[in-house]
Amino acid sequence: REEEEKTVAMDKAEYKGVWVFIEQVDGHIRGVSHELLGEGRKLADAMGQELAGVLIGNHVEDVSKDLFASGADKVYLVEGAEYSHYNTDGFTVTLTDLIKTYKPNVILIGATNDGRDLGPRVACRIGTGLTADCTNLDIDAETGLVAWTRPAFGGNIMATILCPEHRPQMGTVRPKVFKRPVPDFTRTGEIVRVASKVKPEDIRTKFIELLQVCITSCNLEEAEIIVSGGRGMCKPENFKLIEDLAEVLGGTVGASRAAVDAGWKPALHQVGQTGKTVGPKIYIACGISGAIQHLAGMSSSDSVIAINKDADAPIFKVADYGIVGDVMEVLPIMIEEFKKL
Ligand code: FAD
Repeated sequence: REEEEKTVAMDKAEYKGVWVFIEQVDGHIRGVSHELLGEGRKLADAMGQELAGVLIGNHVEDVSKDLFASGADKVYLVEGAEYSHYNTDGFTVTLTDLIKTYKPNVILIGATNDGRDLGPRVACRIGTGLTADCTNLDIDAETGLVAWTRPAFGGNIMATILCPEHRPQMGTVRPKVFKRPVPDFTRTGEIVRVASKVKPEDIRTKFIELLQVCITSCNLEEAEIIVSGGRGMCKPENFKLIEDLAEVLGGTVGASRAAVDAGWKPALHQVGQTGKTVGPKIYIACGISGAIQHLAGMSSSDSVIAINKDADAPIFKVADYGIVGDVMEVLPIMIEEFKKL
């Protein structure tokens, strides 16, 4: 047992540096990767370690400069036609291999569809833990470990989790919980090119076609203006008012879980604990009460406008501007007034 403990202790000391898994589509880095580089920079500085981006793709080297601008000291670059599109098998093998070779201390992955697919598989292969869906990161003062915070028990408590026994410390982090850092294009860094070891037979799926289903109208995580409707919209036809206001403002349509469960909007539009976490400049909540699980997904919005006929609705506690009134009366007026601008 003593021997085992010694081995683990020695192993842990070998793991150094903070890594961010970089998500990109056709060379366009997703916002969450920049957000995690910004937050990773703070962790790396606090631990006195370096920050690296892990960039896996096809002909993507050019985007390394954007990663340095967002705070990376180093980029581990793996390129090949097999990485033209995200695929579970290829990315899992490659990221696992990189971790075994370079031994990072901390790995941050976006809690996106791809990140939620990749993170747990890699953690399992490495034999470490993974804190999923985090909404905050910090350094634990006592242990110096990363303190991963995430909602637990239906969002009723926030749990802070440490990973004392295993390395790397891994977690997925929700998009938009951190601000994207202001880029500094004077920063440069080192590119470590790593040859791909993935063989075609390692990839059991085949990319056929990318169908961009409502990419503009549902891209809530990147939206600057969101107009969201809840049960207070009363029936699906009334969501037309939400869509019209979103269109006039150049915004995106969101929905509460009650509206989604009622079948008024597809689940892609859901904001909240079990939906998307959003951080727009303006969030307009229409007929939404402001349940804790809804607030968990939108309270980092810069400015919240709430329309609700109940003056005591909890949404008004987080709203910067509140309109006590019937959405069926208020929304048509707003649409007409904004059309005039
Ligand atoms: P309600 O709470 O019914 O509120 C409707 C509001 O509309 C009321 O405040 C009412 O005053 C107002 N209203 C009614 N008529 C009008 C009118 N004509 N004009 C103006 N205002 C009007 N919820 C989410 O949204 N997202 C999640 O991700 C989510 N995850 C969950 C996860 C778990 C584990 C659980 C247990 C719950 C989750 N919920 C989530 C559900 C959440 O608890 C609430 O039930 C839900 O957010 C309520 O939606 P709502 O505000 O649209 O409806």
